[in-house]
Amino acid sequence: MYKVGLTGGIGSGKTKVADLLATWGATVIDTDAIAHALTAPEGEAIAPIRAAFGPDFIAANGAMDRAAMRQHVFSNPQARHQLEAILHPLIGAETRRQAEAASGLYCVFVVPLLVEAGERWRHQVDRICVVDCDPATQIARVQARSGLTPDAIERIMQVQASRQARLVVADDIIVNDATTTLNELVQRSRQCHEQWCQAAQAG
Ligand code: ATP
Repeated sequence: MYKVGLTGGIGSGKTKVADLLATWGATVIDTDAIAHALTAPEGEAIAPIRAAFGPDFIAANGAMDRAAMRQHVFSNPQARHQLEAILHPLIGAETRRQAEAASGLYCVFVVPLLVEAGERWRHQVDRICVVDCDPATQIARVQARSGLTPDAIERIMQVQASRQARLVVADDIIVNDATTTLNELVQRSRQCHEQWCQAAQAG
């Protein structure tokens, strides 16, 4: 099946684009949603996380305590690697399972940290599509959605790849910045969709 990796910074509009592609018939596999499910109550990652990090990182409802873990790994690269060593294989296995069951026109993997993951994704997809947005607009959107402070959002953006680094690896770019209306976003997403459908058919 034809495979597209869809990425972009926080608040760039990945989810919006992925939702459109899904309504037009693509199979969307969201690696963030998979990571959330794995760390939800009774998720497959909970037992290994409890074993590796202790009960302090499991919330009362049985899910991973996201806030505690975020703080812990932020300043502690070794802990971050340990968490990734638990999560990445599980995310990979579930992603493959969903891809094998895909029945859409083509398959879209939504991967927020695709560029940060280096070469790993390049070989698993036919195209990399970047949703591109200027940092000020990213901050404004995330603030409106989450209520995080601009400082907190900037800290997240600082550990993500730069806008430039993403554009360098992009095969297709969907601009979704301050000047982009939702209607324009739909039109550009549709162009990409049609291009990928053609490529999928050409096989
Ligand atoms: P994250 O990585 O944080 O999950 P994302 O890249 O998936 O973010 P979205 O959730 O799709 O981004 O978009 C962020 C917010 O900005 C949403 O509330 C969305 O409705 C809004 N938004 C996205 N694009 C536009 C646009 N062109 N005009 C107005 N609002 C937009």
